[in-house]
Amino acid sequence: MTDTKYQHIDGAWIDGESDEQLTIRDPAAPDDPVITFQQADRQQAKTAVEAARAASDEWAATTPDERDAIFYDVADRIEDNLDSLATTLTREEGKPISSSRAEVSRAAEIFRFFASYARTATGDTVPSNDPETFTYTFREPLGVVALVTPWNFPIATPSWKLATALITGNTVVFKPSSETPMIAKRLVELLEEAGVPDGVLNLVVGPGSTVGDEITTNEQIDGISFTGSTGTGQHIAESVAHRGIPVQTEMGGKNPLVVLPDADFEAAADAAIAGAFGLTGQACTATSRLIVHEDVAAELTDAVVERAKSLSVGPGMDDPDMGPAVSADQDETNFEYVDIAANDGATLLTGGSRPDGVEAGYFIEPTVFGDVESEMQIAQDEVFGPVLSVMEVGDYEEAVSVANDVAFGLSASIFTSDMAAARKFTEQAEAGVIKVNGTTTGSQIQMPFGGMKASSSEQKKEMGQRAYEFYTHEKVVYRTDP
Ligand code: NAD
Repeated sequence: MTDTKYQHIDGAWIDGESDEQLTIRDPAAPDDPVITFQQADRQQAKTAVEAARAASDEWAATTPDERDAIFYDVADRIEDNLDSLATTLTREEGKPISSSRAEVSRAAEIFRFFASYARTATGDTVPSNDPETFTYTFREPLGVVALVTPWNFPIATPSWKLATALITGNTVVFKPSSETPMIAKRLVELLEEAGVPDGVLNLVVGPGSTVGDEITTNEQIDGISFTGSTGTGQHIAESVAHRGIPVQTEMGGKNPLVVLPDADFEAAADAAIAGAFGLTGQACTATSRLIVHEDVAAELTDAVVERAKSLSVGPGMDDPDMGPAVSADQDETNFEYVDIAANDGATLLTGGSRPDGVEAGYFIEPTVFGDVESEMQIAQDEVFGPVLSVMEVGDYEEAVSVANDVAFGLSASIFTSDMAAARKFTEQAEAGVIKVNGTTTGSQIQMPFGGMKASSSEQKKEMGQRAYEFYTHEKVVYRTDP
């Protein structure tokens, strides 16, 4: 019998108690549902928070070696189950199986990397003006944290939030996207098998408006880490602003890739393609605006269009270059933006339709628009699909000004061999992550990650040392011995 127990509260796997069911569909074959189960309701979310609260003191008191042993074990378990986890991920999210395998491996890497934080996390000893008084700082866990995640990296994003929250001694209520609960459940099962005690990690699967709202607004929550759309993130931040708790919101992007005339042309074209169409454009750091100097615009645009046309599109399990959109809603959004761009006067250079021969599934061809101007909606809104806008500029100054002319500020890249221009760009681009001669996508876990402007609350970035700081309070001590 198919396992429909998707709620994990105080160590028990139980059925959801809401009246609403959730049906998971393979985005490459949506007519054939994978599983249907009952969602959690608000009361279950409340119970999950209470369970996390009850487990909090004991977990915070575990020693670093106890916590890191669990993390090394879970990393091994993730690797041992790599094939089945990757298949689960591709079946519900749709991405090519090789991308799913890479993401699952990344999850193992994340747990191993953050395991070391249990032992190396430090405070400061600071010289004191009073020889009798010892002055120092130390960090302690926040307590109970709510983790809310989207569907596009459905094992990597939960892993970096869970790893940093748990290793620093917090207990967790985790709400994954309702598009990708299957991989979330598998991850929680592996953490439980590795030895995470009952109540320390609770999973609730249900609507954002009830379950998500409860776990973020509940007064027993001491911190929130959210990744998702800007609208939801800002709503959560506003709902809890009066409490003054740490709230991390990593949100949307409209990421520019700037190409100057002295750039490595082939590398720039490859980066544009990888950034725009890798993961079907469903990355917060996806390249959605290719801002090209007029001297090379025609040549680069032709190269990008040719490459886009040559990409294979198909079911993730066939490992194509590009899989389907995640859901019917995202599929509709993709086609809506094709119409919006065309109506606003942009020129469709390639794509914009379902690939030939597709009978089912949320597929769209890799799509490139030319003649895009900054004031057009297609140049401003996050599509979150494989739709690239090419924008021509006269010089470096105009390129930066166009790059910054959006509400978002997540990732930005410049291709140039002029290192003075590159340095200026790192200073002038309004983005939290800046690449020189690299794709707008991709990050390393030891580096902090996060955006500016409407892309992030900027409280503390995720990953690296900053993540450790987000999940802990700093206490400042003046100790005078009697
Ligand atoms: P979304 O905002 O619709 O949902 C994100 C999560 O929030 C889901 O789990 C959802 O159920 C939950 N949620 C919805 N309403 C809520 C509420 N009122 N209270 C609490 N939780 C609520 O986003 P999505 O469609 O799942 O993901 C796509 C978006 O995520 C894109 O905008 C993308 O750019 C962004 N994203 C950002 C990053 C980043 O690091 N900046 C990374 C990946 C994705």
